[in-house]
Amino acid sequence: LLPDLKDKVAVVTGAGSGIGRAAALMLAQQGMKVCLADLKDERRDQTVQEILSTGGQAISVDVDVADPIRVAEAFEEVAHAWGRLDFVFANAGINGVLAPIEDMKPEDWDRTLSVNLKGTFLCVKHAVPHMKEQGGSIVITSSINGSRKFSGFGMSAYSASKAGQVAFAKMAALELARYKIRVNAICPGSIKTNIGENTQPTPELQKIKIPVNYPEGSQPLEHAPGMPEQVADLVAFLASEASSHITGTELFIDGAESLL
Ligand code: NAD
Repeated sequence: LLPDLKDKVAVVTGAGSGIGRAAALMLAQQGMKVCLADLKDERRDQTVQEILSTGGQAISVDVDVADPIRVAEAFEEVAHAWGRLDFVFANAGINGVLAPIEDMKPEDWDRTLSVNLKGTFLCVKHAVPHMKEQGGSIVITSSINGSRKFSGFGMSAYSASKAGQVAFAKMAALELARYKIRVNAICPGSIKTNIGENTQPTPELQKIKIPVNYPEGSQPLEHAPGMPEQVADLVAFLASEASSHITGTELFIDGAESLL
C-alpha cells in the first residue's frame, strides 16, 4: 500500500488500545518496525504478539509519557534496538477528571495537561535527536475538542490540552522543517475506543444539566462513532512520503461531526 514505509522505524504512544493500537497494527502491516510505547499493559503486549504472529516486527517499552526520564529512556531503547527513527505517533491521552471549573482540583487539571500536552512535548523533544539526520514525520493526536467543537461541560482541561497540542504541532512544524521533519496534528471526532476507562466524571458534573443539543458521537457521514482503523489509515498516510508536502496542519477526521 505505502511501500516507502517498509523497514522504517515507528514509535506509537498509547499503542495498547484504541487509535494507537489500530495505528500500530496498520504501520506494521506496511512493513514498519513498530515500538509500542504505553503504560505496562496486557493489551499492549497482546498487540505486540499479534504483530509478531503475522510476520511483522514489533517491540514494546513501558512508558508514562508524562515522565521525562522514562520518555528519554524509551527513545534511547528504540534507537538501540533499531538504530534509527522515522515516525512518531504521539497519541497517548486521557480524558482524565471531568469536573465543572469551580470544582476542578488543580492536581487533576495538571494530570490531564501532563499526559496530553507535556507528554506530546516530551515525545517530540526526545524524538528529534534521533530523526534530525535523515528527517521524518510526527503525528500528534489532538481532537475536534481542541479547536472546533467543545462537546460538554467538564472538559476544560481536556480541551485546553488538545488545543495546546495543535498550537504545539504548528510551532514544531516550523522549527523542525530545517531537519525535514514534518509535524501534523490529527483531530478525530468520536471514535469507538476504550477512552471511557480513563474518564472520571465528578459527582458535581453529574448534577449539571448540560445544554448540548446533539446526540453524543453523532456524525453526519455514518451516524455512529468512527472506528480506530479509519484513523489508522490517515496516520499511515501521514507517516509516508505520500504526504511529503503536508506539515503544520490540523486534519479533521470526524465524519463532519464538528460541523454540526
Ligand atoms: P484509549 O483509552 O483506547 O487508548 C489510550 C491509550 O493511551 C491506552 O493504551 C492507555 O494505556 C495509554 N495511555 C494513557 N495514559 C498514558 C500515559 N500517561 N503514558 C502512556 N500511555 C498512556 O483511547 P483512544 O481513544 O484511543 O485515545 C487515543 C488518543 O485519541 C488520545 O489522545 C485521545 O485524546 C484522542 N482522541 C480520542 C477520541 C475518541 O473519541 N476516542 C476523539 C478524539 C481524540
